Amino acid sequence: MKLFTEDRDRNSLSADRETCEGAREVEPCLDERLIRFERRPATGRQRRICIRVFSNSQVVVTAPSCVSDSAVQHYVRQHENWIRSKLRLLQSRPQPVSRDYVSGEHHYWLGKPVILRVLVAPDKRQRVRLLHDCLEVQARCKSKDRIRKLLVEWYRAQAQAIFSGRLELLLTDTPWVESRPSLRVRAMRRRWGSCSISGDVTLNLHLLKAPSECVDYVILHELCHIAEHNHSPRFYRLLSRVLPEWKARKAQLDSMTHLLLDAD
Ligand SMILES: [Zn+2]
Repeated sequence: MKLFTEDRDRNSLSADRETCEGAREVEPCLDERLIRFERRPATGRQRRICIRVFSNSQVVVTAPSCVSDSAVQHYVRQHENWIRSKLRLLQSRPQPVSRDYVSGEHHYWLGKPVILRVLVAPDKRQRVRLLHDCLEVQARCKSKDRIRKLLVEWYRAQAQAIFSGRLELLLTDTPWVESRPSLRVRAMRRRWGSCSISGDVTLNLHLLKAPSECVDYVILHELCHIAEHNHSPRFYRLLSRVLPEWKARKAQLDSMTHLLLDAD
């Protein structure tokens, strides 16, 4: 499940900043009001033109080599309104909060803000503890990288345990899942979760910072993909059956995303 993303036909929206060999900028041929975009070679078996809009306002078009530049420009002009609305949407969204990993900073745990407390103890065991509304990190030094690494390791261990427990419970609502899917936890920038063709579920480590009802929403979304590996109307009918209020959960998660992800 992508962060914020809504796919529209062949157009997809993404937030990464990947680079690609062979990319070139195609000059807009009419006037400056036209959208500037970069053309890149098609990937894999891609047969159609695909437009992607990035959070840094970059527009990238991939197309098979047999498609002429003028055909690509025509396609972009046809989708100009879609591109402009996506650019406006992305630019209006708050960017992930930048953190210094120092005492007093706000972090998140299952939807609640917790205050970071950093204790430096060169001779003691490094550890992280959650004490009510305080996330206490005891470390050998207070470097940002060290504190961040300790926190990520701690969040990962907690996430594996908590997500596994929720998955187990939610399986009672998803009778089409015949055997318990394997669960992986990964820090991701562009997805809250994913489900492979073979039914393995991956969840974003940062999801542990979201309210538990949002965690359940993402898990149920991925479990629905075991029955419907797409975002077809059938998929959304199934999701609405197991979680009628999924749109409210999604809106809640979207509204917090900039607080939950790492800025760097
Ligand atoms: Zn999905």
